[in-house]
Amino acid sequence: MNTSTSAASPVQARRLLIVGPPGAGKGTQAVRLAEELSIPAISTGDIFRANVSGETELGVLAKSYMDKGEYVPDSVTNDMVRSRLGEADAQDGFLLDGYPRTLDQVEALDGMLTELGTTLDAVLLLVVETEEVVGRLVERGKQQGRSDDTEETIRHRLEVYSEQTAPLIDVYEKRDLVRRVDGMAAIDDVTTSLREALAGR
Ligand code: ADP
Repeated sequence: MNTSTSAASPVQARRLLIVGPPGAGKGTQAVRLAEELSIPAISTGDIFRANVSGETELGVLAKSYMDKGEYVPDSVTNDMVRSRLGEADAQDGFLLDGYPRTLDQVEALDGMLTELGTTLDAVLLLVVETEEVVGRLVERGKQQGRSDDTEETIRHRLEVYSEQTAPLIDVYEKRDLVRRVDGMAAIDDVTTSLREALAGR
């Protein structure tokens, strides 16, 4: 273990994004990491699914996009995240999972953080192999009955990801925020790597 002391111990990063293609394991890792950091894991996919189950107006709208593997319109998603980030539990930090996914959402998030007088500390990128990911998602579809986890929809989601979301990595790369972690390792090992990446090791 590295026990060397540094004059100024780094302030724990608490405003975080976790990004990566569908099936990279963002949700699993986000929940673990957020618990360790005592911040909320905010998953736009989960919020949409809760609305779909609750048959809210937002849910009905979101479902029509989700089932096709398309993104829910930016304006809808941005409003939802703005309201979630305004809640009390998010004032000391948050781990956003599945947002932002488009350049428009990056700008919207920048605006929200400016309004809140804060900035992002890090963007955690889970690096995975596409074919492996398709297999994981097909399996999840069978187990959890997620209506967007059929092979055809999964392939489409991966295309949408590489067209619309992968370019975001460059944007955050230019801001020097991206920390890459191998998402193909065992779940516990990925959590350890994420923890280390956050500690700057
Ligand atoms: P995955 O990353 O495995 O595809 P998510 O649970 O994060 O799954 O998202 C499921 C679906 O919810 C997406 O395919 C999309 O339709 C919708 N969604 C989630 N987050 C966003 C977002 N930031 N912008 C637009 N749509 C979103």
